[in-house]
Amino acid sequence: MEAKAGSTAATDGAYSVSAEETEKWMEQAMQMATRHAEMVAIDQALDWCRRRGRSPSEVFEHTVLYVTVEPCIMCAAALRLMRIPLVVYGCQNERFGGCGSVLDIASADLPSTGKPFQCTPGYRAEEAVEMLKTFYKQENPNAPKSKVRKKECHKS
Ligand SMILES: [Zn+2]
Repeated sequence: MEAKAGSTAATDGAYSVSAEETEKWMEQAMQMATRHAEMVAIDQALDWCRRRGRSPSEVFEHTVLYVTVEPCIMCAAALRLMRIPLVVYGCQNERFGGCGSVLDIASADLPSTGKPFQCTPGYRAEEAVEMLKTFYKQENPNAPKSKVRKKECHKS
């Protein structure tokens, strides 16, 4: 669930990106998929602004976020507070999704909570689902060994 930010110019208030640009950034997102990447992307963009002396509010208002999975409620709220106008994502997040699957933080009427943002769902959704399945099959090498495993080890 990695995110990557890209920017595009607003013309008539609606944001759109070319198919090539969407593919380029979604490929980046697919390559980097790990955790609550929206927060990582926000931190990286803020750092980028700091280093270049740019106004975060101006930068975020012209930023498109590409992420493999629908942002969770927490991340959707953060994206809204940062005033990101468009989020392109792969698969839905049926358990925690903040762009309509559980709550619609993206477009809800939430006073004093940033600005609603557009969503483009379903881009490379099947691939994103497969990546999640693969991710959850992996074992954490730093996790404590379970008691069931220890018993299995003693038997052999
Ligand atoms: Zn999240």
